[in-house]
Amino acid sequence: MKKQIEQLSAYEPGLSPRALKESYGIEGELYKLASNENLYGPSPKVNEAIQAHLDELQFYPETGSPLIKEAISKHLNVDASRILFGAGLDEVILMISRAVLTPGDKIVTSEMTFGQYYHNATVEAANVAQVPMQNGCFDLEGILAEIDDDTKLVWLCNPNNPTGTYFTHEELQHFLTRVPSHVPVIIDEAYVEFVTAEDFPDTLALQEQFTNAFLLRTFSKAYGLAGMRIGYVVAAKEAIEKWNIIRPPFNVGRLSEYAALAALEDQKYLASIREHNAQERAKFFELAVSDRFYPSQTNFVYINTDKPHDLYEAFLNVGCITREFPKGVRVTIGFPEQNDKMIEVLKSFEF
Ligand SMILES: *Cc1c(COP(=O)(O)O)cnc(C)c1O
Repeated sequence: MKKQIEQLSAYEPGLSPRALKESYGIEGELYKLASNENLYGPSPKVNEAIQAHLDELQFYPETGSPLIKEAISKHLNVDASRILFGAGLDEVILMISRAVLTPGDKIVTSEMTFGQYYHNATVEAANVAQVPMQNGCFDLEGILAEIDDDTKLVWLCNPNNPTGTYFTHEELQHFLTRVPSHVPVIIDEAYVEFVTAEDFPDTLALQEQFTNAFLLRTFSKAYGLAGMRIGYVVAAKEAIEKWNIIRPPFNVGRLSEYAALAALEDQKYLASIREHNAQERAKFFELAVSDRFYPSQTNFVYINTDKPHDLYEAFLNVGCITREFPKGVRVTIGFPEQNDKMIEVLKSFEF
């Protein structure tokens, strides 16, 4: 067994709604607002698409997900040779780490960001520099200062999970200008469809100037397909060709591909999800206690508190399962009913 695996533990999903109901003696419905899923689910067109392909389950999918690749290529206006699909971004992050990192290499990222960059680098016995945040935001200057000759990957998350904050187009461009061009900078935009800020990066445009800028996107969040496991990376053709060699041949399921195709087609539905989320998000930021929140461009809000477990339990008592962190609680924006309940909790909670 690789020695470094002993430093890690398996992913802890937290207690299930059933287990939580039992241990807290809660009656009535519990809503899972801990993983930033879209409670409204995918476009209704997805259901039709899946039904239409239910008689093909005995067949392997086409390797490389060519149908959705072609659709994304058109949608983003990038050549299909620059796109690679994974069973969710989790697998994309794993594939990139596996392909690139050897023991003693270094990755640079931030503290308080998506845990899989660290996890996969550690599996490959690479060292991880986690640069402290500034007010819940990536410190791009600090990250730049950590890049050295051993650095093989830089991981950015924009907007960031779990803080919800973002950096602007100008900031990213200025950053990329100074990163050595042989160091890949991977920008995880899992929540991009929820963004309403106008100065958010046009990362695809920046890729024309910076061929070391790689972009991650997923169908798991705003598209409502977390259960289908499909996400992708847009990168330089040469990198995609190498990573494709280590991709498991049938990594994305048949139904996942058809589901993603239908979801992508229904941009009207996606826009309604974005608008609705923005309206509900604004309700949280009208609160007097919102100075405890990091500003959010996502479908979640991070609340700073020294009593995260008390706040977590207070949310649980109104039927909302949230995610506890050492110094805060992250709540996924749910249906208006749950949001209103969480807002009531926040108004009365003794921080
Ligand atoms: C949820 C999430 C992912 C993983 O998404 P999948 O496509 O479901 O594997 C990746 N990055 C960030 C920042 C996320 O929040």
